[in-house]
Amino acid sequence: MKVLLVFAHPEPRSLGGALRDIAVQELTAQGHEVQVSDLYAMRWKSEVDRADFPSLAPGARLKVAGASGEAFVAAALTDDVRAEQEKLKWADALILQFPLWWYSMPAILKGWVDRVYAYGFAYGVGEHSDSHWGDRFGEGLFTGKRAMLIVTTGGWREHYSSRGINGPIDDLLFPINHGVLYYPGFDVLPPFVAYRVDRLDEAGFAVVVDGLRERMQTLTTTSPISYRRQNGGDYLIPSLQLRPGLGRPGEAGFALHLRENVV
Ligand SMILES: Cc1cc2nc3c(=O)[nH]c(=O)nc-3n(C[C@H](O)[C@H](O)[C@H](O)COP(=O)(O)OP(=O)(O)OC[C@H]3O[C@@H](n4cnc5c(N)ncnc54)[C@H](O)[C@@H]3O)c2cc1C
Repeated sequence: MKVLLVFAHPEPRSLGGALRDIAVQELTAQGHEVQVSDLYAMRWKSEVDRADFPSLAPGARLKVAGASGEAFVAAALTDDVRAEQEKLKWADALILQFPLWWYSMPAILKGWVDRVYAYGFAYGVGEHSDSHWGDRFGEGLFTGKRAMLIVTTGGWREHYSSRGINGPIDDLLFPINHGVLYYPGFDVLPPFVAYRVDRLDEAGFAVVVDGLRERMQTLTTTSPISYRRQNGGDYLIPSLQLRPGLGRPGEAGFALHLRENVV
């Protein structure tokens, strides 16, 4: 497979940097082709602004989605964005790797998503009708490709358990897994999360490395998270609410959107 690893950490000698190198080494050993987008090393511009749309008329009010769509169609997006889009088209699998910062991804990686996911490329695609509400949530440009997160956290595994104070890790990562990866069509694999890493000793590091290697070895075979497809019949259109009778009685929140909760 062709794998794109997008890496967001400001320090190459960090734990994250070491784990990135191990992931690349293991993927290569498995016969995969790997490209890395090291966002800090690339000095990736994280904010969306007028400079992203050089063809926008001077003085015209900037509406990001509209400007993005027009620039995408006209092949007028900036070179850095177009290069990342080409990498995404090239890849069979996308890995986003980052330290958890304030319950989410570092701003530079969010900015990669904001800028690279242009209108007409990653969103705003497909027909809207009574049975089909655009190509998204299981459909879209990245259908048939795999994606996963590699995340390190300061918090303990228990802090991210079902009764942990931080909330379940699957809930925290839902906006990325479901909103950023599943939305444009990726099959999203369960994340690899290394917890409580801030004072990791050598033995702990070895455990993390073993787990990461195993996940890289099984990248092609790991079952994706069983999110429900938007246009697969489980949702009312256009309200996009889960149909009555699906999900466990009284259940709410992110878990509703997993097929295994069908009763
Ligand atoms: C702005 C900010 C917000 C944060 N928000 C959250 C949050 O919401 N939730 C949360 O849980 N955490 C949070 N954290 C903590 C953060 O997630 C962790 O600090 C981060 O994941 C650690 O990864 P790192 O690559 O930066 O580790 P590093 O600091 O580089 O390394 C951590 C430890 O790993 C070991 N190590 C590093 N490299 C190696 C190596 N090559 N071999 C062996 N051992 C090694 C060392 O013991 C080192 O001290 C936040 C941190 C910041 C700065």
